[in-house]
Amino acid sequence: MISIKHTEGVAFIELNAPPVNALGLKMRQALSLAIHELDADEQVKAIVLCSALPLFCGGADIVEFRTGAVWDKPDLPALCETIETSKKPIIAAIAGPAMGGALEIALACDYRVATPDAVMGLPEIKLGLLPGAGGTQRLPRIAGLEAATQMILSGDPVKGEYALSCGLVDALLENNQDFRAHVLGFATRVSHEGDPKRSCADITVTHPDSKGYLTGFRDQIAHTSKYLVAPERCLVSVEAACELPLSEGLAQEKAGFAELLDTPQSRAGRHLFFAERECTKVPGVTRADQPRSISSVAVIGAGTMGRGIAIAFLQAGYRVTFLETTQSALEQGLEMVREHFQRAAQKGRLSADRAETIVSNATGTLSYGDLAEADLIIEAAFESMNVKRQIFASLDQHAKPGAILASNTSTLDLDEIAAVSSRPEDVIGLHFFSPANVMRLLEVVRGSKTAPDVIATAITVAKKIRKLPVTVGVCYGFVGNRMLEPYFREGSRLLLEGATPKHVDDVLETFGMAMGIHAMADLAGVDVGARVRQERRSEIAHDPTYQAVQDRLFELGRLGQKTGRGSYVYEGRTRVEDSEIVQISTNLAGLHGVKRRDIDDQEILERCIYPLINEGFLILEEGIATRPGDCDLIWVNGYGFPNWRGGPMHYADEIGLSHVLERMNHYRQSLGAYGEMWFTPAPLLEELATSGVTLAAHFDAKKEKS
Ligand code: NAD
Repeated sequence: MISIKHTEGVAFIELNAPPVNALGLKMRQALSLAIHELDADEQVKAIVLCSALPLFCGGADIVEFRTGAVWDKPDLPALCETIETSKKPIIAAIAGPAMGGALEIALACDYRVATPDAVMGLPEIKLGLLPGAGGTQRLPRIAGLEAATQMILSGDPVKGEYALSCGLVDALLENNQDFRAHVLGFATRVSHEGDPKRSCADITVTHPDSKGYLTGFRDQIAHTSKYLVAPERCLVSVEAACELPLSEGLAQEKAGFAELLDTPQSRAGRHLFFAERECTKVPGVTRADQPRSISSVAVIGAGTMGRGIAIAFLQAGYRVTFLETTQSALEQGLEMVREHFQRAAQKGRLSADRAETIVSNATGTLSYGDLAEADLIIEAAFESMNVKRQIFASLDQHAKPGAILASNTSTLDLDEIAAVSSRPEDVIGLHFFSPANVMRLLEVVRGSKTAPDVIATAITVAKKIRKLPVTVGVCYGFVGNRMLEPYFREGSRLLLEGATPKHVDDVLETFGMAMGIHAMADLAGVDVGARVRQERRSEIAHDPTYQAVQDRLFELGRLGQKTGRGSYVYEGRTRVEDSEIVQISTNLAGLHGVKRRDIDDQEILERCIYPLINEGFLILEEGIATRPGDCDLIWVNGYGFPNWRGGPMHYADEIGLSHVLERMNHYRQSLGAYGEMWFTPAPLLEELATSGVTLAAHFDAKKEKS
């Protein structure tokens, strides 16, 4: 894991544990032993910590957070103490990323040198944690209170230049073949100084008004962190760095870390971290399925989605050709794309030259013949099976062999679209979310005949355009919109039973949803949902109350934000309650014989969230999603489910599957015929709840078996 090389009295400890030099127990033991030995070696005048990999170190081994091995000695705080109290000066030589525990080790060193492109950060807060190995104590002492607070509370990394400017590193050294020689020079110089040791215990945090600064910071993040426990714990710890001796601050920090480690929010953060790592592993897709090469992309339809998709590809350096039905639609689309990049350049987000190059990569056509060179063609035309089938039939004639043919459909059957093609193995769904250049989620829809290398290509390309690809199977709505159905259905039905849109939305937003159901429907457009329901009337006809209020709003032309009225009335972007909705709901309740009553917050929450979870169980049983974490990533990144709850499936495990089952059964009975219709627990939920197994454990066992 490590090797030691001696040069002119300087010992280089080189970390070499691919892929990321994780600081698991074995690595900690090896480092601790090496430092003790080098400390005792008279020949050694200075020690350099460096890496043989393209990164310095990725930090703690997060698996140990779950197993408890994080506390096995030497733990990270102990290793940092060994470094800090060593008799020899220790220099961290950072090239590439040094994250979390890695930066904490570097902070315990006497000196830090880095390359200009080194990336240093303490991302623990993103996992609901605080840096527990001295980060909150040493960083403010070394880099100053303000830089440290920003880094710890945002979790975002900084680069070499900034690190030098705030004192986090002592020197920047070019990352060329002389890097080692420069580091050797630096180490030799410091080892010749009178007293080269620099313990943080001797440094105090200097700031003219640390209390005032931290109070201001607290106020500033109050809104965004109102549900989170880690930010306050981090701030308290930084405060301790300003007020207490290092040893006391470290003890307080360690206690804070242990406390946070055991919170649902940290479990949620770690769950999503691992889910992101897992989601690109797709059953049936192996290393042998090499991604196809993609450099030019065509987008069919330059509407809302087409433009966003094109922007995402253009900014990642791809060439993009739009295909439209009319010259004016084409020009409009291209103009919007141009304006997007010009605005970005004006705001200083990219240089004018770069914006010009990007824009010159965007072209348009009305003829399929011009798509003959495209490696990837993404259809984003109207949501109509006829339109899509015509498009895919044309692509069959004009796309080159091996081109990937993708559809951005949100609801249509991908297999039916693929059936018009003589090459269904090249057809795939790429379900982007609106706005497509902003939203990170991408549902990669695998048709029954989609080739594994096409999936591998979609995943590779998705990463290049900075999306989070989650592969799902074909069914109505795939994973995200299918889970949305029962959630939205209940949110709407509750209006008939006596709730108001604001009451429903308030409960969901208090739970942590980015936006309540009714506000979301108004934003997406009441017409969008109504049109989809018209297409699938037969499937929902058995419930005449199904989205009755939404359908009525559609008839009234209350299409949401775009018409200034929907479930709310809009004053600018501010939503205001409208008593007319109560009237509409009351009338419809009368029409359908629904009894109106007072509905409490608990019922609203349970009726919206538990059927959503239940649908997730059905999806998992059917194999439409591979693992619970995939459903969670989709709902956190595409639908505003609070990430600190880990997504709906993880949340179900946290609150207990037997509780979810009990409440589903409760509503099944208490809501009469309606309950019978919609509150049947999924068999997998029943099975696990009854046997006392969590969803996570069930899928872990399944994975082990396979
Ligand atoms: P839109 O109406 O804004 O744009 C559709 C564009 O396609 C129009 O510019 C139209 O001129 C063009 N078009 C129609 N038929 C065409 C054809 N035969 N050939 C070439 N161009 C054609 O629609 P949108 O909201 O961008 O949706 C496009 C697709 O994306 C739909 O399948 C929709 O379900 C899906 N989708 C939409 C959203 C969303 O939030 N809007 C989200 C995910 C997926």
